[in-house]
Amino acid sequence: MQTIIRNIAIDGPSGAGKSTLARRLAARLGYVYVDTGAMYRAIALAALRQNAKTTEEILALLTDLTISLGYVEGVQRVFVNDEDVSDLIRTPEVSMGASAVSAIPEVRQFLFDLQQQLAAKQSVVMDGRDIGTVVLPNADVKIFLTASPEQRAYRRYLELQEKQKDAAPDYETVLQDVIQRDHQDMTRTIAPLRQAEDAVLLDTTEYDLEQSEAMLYQICKERLTEL
Ligand code: C5P
Repeated sequence: MQTIIRNIAIDGPSGAGKSTLARRLAARLGYVYVDTGAMYRAIALAALRQNAKTTEEILALLTDLTISLGYVEGVQRVFVNDEDVSDLIRTPEVSMGASAVSAIPEVRQFLFDLQQQLAAKQSVVMDGRDIGTVVLPNADVKIFLTASPEQRAYRRYLELQEKQKDAAPDYETVLQDVIQRDHQDMTRTIAPLRQAEDAVLLDTTEYDLEQSEAMLYQICKERLTEL
């Protein structure tokens, strides 16, 4: 029997819970989870390490760069030239860098090819900003996951409180940061964040993680006959 390859695209702004929900959905369906943000972050890390600042310097770096995803005990890890950089790409410096490199068309093309190859060879749940609109326009299910800026900021604020305790920024600062990143992601000229016409909108403002997960699964169940 031939196995069907399924592609699920999840897009949305920062802090909507995309990665947690996409990871859980992939585990439940037995698909591979592809975190495309981590790929932009990996390029940003390489650029920071090589002190590559201009577009030319960053593009020169891509010629020797191999980005791959691996799984250790079911958890996605990101490798740059075989080095596991998964923990190193979560710093604020790399977040800023990722935002900058993601605006370079050649960087997007480089990752676009890699993302399409991954989705062509296996069933994936892929999350990002342009998956339903650009990378996987023919995905079997497209979801646009969002929540109000206040709710996303509040969730992020609680997360930072737990991690950083007294050093955590206050809620107002986190909210301003969320609003600024939304603006940057939605107004950039290349692959701006927007809902694909055929994407299902899932607004999790009023729901907790378990409820959101159940709704996400339900959306997939309605569209994938084998579930
Ligand atoms: O999702 P995450 O915060 O890890 O993404 C890091 C950066 O990469 C963000 O600034 C986002 O704009 C960019 N990105 C993108 N396209 C994607 C995924 C992420 O431009 N598909």
